[in-house]
Amino acid sequence: MSESREKARRRMRELVDAISHHDTKYYVEDNPEISDFEYDQLVQELNDLEATFPDLVLPDSPTQRVSGKALEEFPQVEHKVAMLSLGNSYSPEELKEFDARVRKWLGEEKVEYVVELKIDGLGIALLYEDGELTRGATRGDGKVGEEVTQNIKTIRSIPLRLRPDSGLRTIEVRGEVYMPTEGLRRLNKDREQRGEPLFANPRNAAAGSVRQLDPKIAASRPLEAFFYTLGYSKESMPKTHEACIEAMKQAGLRVSPHTRKFDSIDKVLGHISSWESKRDDLGYEIDGMVVKVNSLAQQLKLGYTAKEPRWAIAFKYPPKQMTTRLIDIQVQVGRTGALTPVAVLEPVQVGGVTVTHATLHNEDEVKRKGLMIGDHVLIERAGEVIPQVVKAIVDRRTGKEREFRMPQTCPVCGSKAVREEDEAVRRCVNASCPAQVKERLTHFTSRGAMDIEGVGPSLIDQLVEKGLVSDAADLYALRKEQLLELEGFAEKSSQNVLDAVNSSRGREFDRVLYALGIRHVGKTTATVLAEAMRNLDRIQSATEEELSRIEGIGQVVAEAIRDFMDNPKNHALLGRLRKAGLRMELEKKASGPLSGKTFLFTGELSSMPRPEAEALVQSLGGKISRGVTKALDYLVVGKDPGSKLAKAKSLGMTILDEKAFLEMVGKK
Ligand SMILES: [Zn+2]
Repeated sequence: MSESREKARRRMRELVDAISHHDTKYYVEDNPEISDFEYDQLVQELNDLEATFPDLVLPDSPTQRVSGKALEEFPQVEHKVAMLSLGNSYSPEELKEFDARVRKWLGEEKVEYVVELKIDGLGIALLYEDGELTRGATRGDGKVGEEVTQNIKTIRSIPLRLRPDSGLRTIEVRGEVYMPTEGLRRLNKDREQRGEPLFANPRNAAAGSVRQLDPKIAASRPLEAFFYTLGYSKESMPKTHEACIEAMKQAGLRVSPHTRKFDSIDKVLGHISSWESKRDDLGYEIDGMVVKVNSLAQQLKLGYTAKEPRWAIAFKYPPKQMTTRLIDIQVQVGRTGALTPVAVLEPVQVGGVTVTHATLHNEDEVKRKGLMIGDHVLIERAGEVIPQVVKAIVDRRTGKEREFRMPQTCPVCGSKAVREEDEAVRRCVNASCPAQVKERLTHFTSRGAMDIEGVGPSLIDQLVEKGLVSDAADLYALRKEQLLELEGFAEKSSQNVLDAVNSSRGREFDRVLYALGIRHVGKTTATVLAEAMRNLDRIQSATEEELSRIEGIGQVVAEAIRDFMDNPKNHALLGRLRKAGLRMELEKKASGPLSGKTFLFTGELSSMPRPEAEALVQSLGGKISRGVTKALDYLVVGKDPGSKLAKAKSLGMTILDEKAFLEMVGKK
């Protein structure tokens, strides 16, 4: 090994260790030691080294979290120790019976219980061999699960290597992969915009994400994990469950901060009941608590019945389902004109929250569930996100229930509402429909978009009805006299609105793109698009084919972008927004690995459209030259190059083929 390779290898090891240390601090302990900027610098240095020495990339490098190709199917794996399910209990009495059984079995021995949150996610088992994560598997049927290692690796709170100074080296641990409430809410919102089916609860969302055959999709999902069982340890096993958890924590595995130990079942019960209301503030869903005998020797003595351990039991909180009456089904009009049926419910308490409405998604959903107006229905508040109607309770029908008919016209403006052949949704065809205008504006000013504080639905209602605003650009032309005429607006409140509108001019380009409300372009897609194309001009001039070749965009989205950009009204709107001072390009990075270097492209690249390649160079700090000049550093040559190639050759310039270019920008 040459000296520089050896040096690089050592530095890469150092960087991987440092980054994984900081990942633990950030993702596991929520206690970062360095700034995001310093962290990014470490990652950048590692990226650069790995681009230069691709054969030296370490298997536990953080860059390997998302790697590998999509699978055809998951291989099956047998668990080292069977993952049995727990018995359930639903009342304090049942828990006391559990305690009585445990005491009877153990005789005079003192018993301690450890109580853990029962997270509503997907059970997994991880195998670490000599400190390195080698396998991740789902619980499956308890004996045989599916191997999902590449997806598990994409979860940042799961360490790829155990801390070298911890006592654990070759172990199997069990835990739960889950999706936080906020992550699920955003994912569902994005899916709704794309017209994809929503996840009913966080468990489905976590399971659906971990069981994605394409690790890139899994990586894009906001998953986290907690570990609660040390199933096997080759080196040495602690004596209590509590000590196992402490050992896992020392090894860098994320464990719940809410685990507690008690010396009597009454204290356990008090703890469990105190969490019933607190659980709504956790930020993720739990459906109960788990009570375990602390001593592993006692666990061994107690053993198992045919299907569950005798030393542990789950306590389930009452489900967040209730029955109520479906008073009416109203139809709302969204910003793309989509007509959405909404259930109006007799108010009912579900899991501590009063529910009055539930989404019904579309007319087919109403039909599929066989809902009739006046029905008694079972509703569920799943994942703290959106209340859902689970089903009608047909036995309680009186004969007075009415069938629901989806209107064929827009309930707001009366225009025709059309359902395209391959769509589940009916849409109002009138682009100036006041309902659509209001929804578009509400989206534009919302927090994730332009974040214009104080310009919410009620002000937008007034502005649209008074004819002051009919599109986003009108917001930037608002004057104080106009606001003062509105109900409830005085000098100060009017000024606040103007200030908020004003300061939104500085929002990043990707937010502007998202705020436009282009169909299928959610927040993530907007960011991808902004980063790939860098500015609006490029997006406007890109063909559908070029757009669809951007990673993460695809045919449907590309078509929607093109449709939006080709509409003359939108073209005019964008012109006015630009005039209003909104950012129509990503801020250029001052420095990057290509900083100071000038590139020129000739011929067609097979891996990406040229505008994207140019944008990529710029995003890494490089410049694009307009022709073959002395200032040019690299000519990148694709298929069927033009005359530039001969000229560059004659001037003795550095010529890169596509492969070399991709290596240089870290895409290979
Ligand atoms: Zn309408």
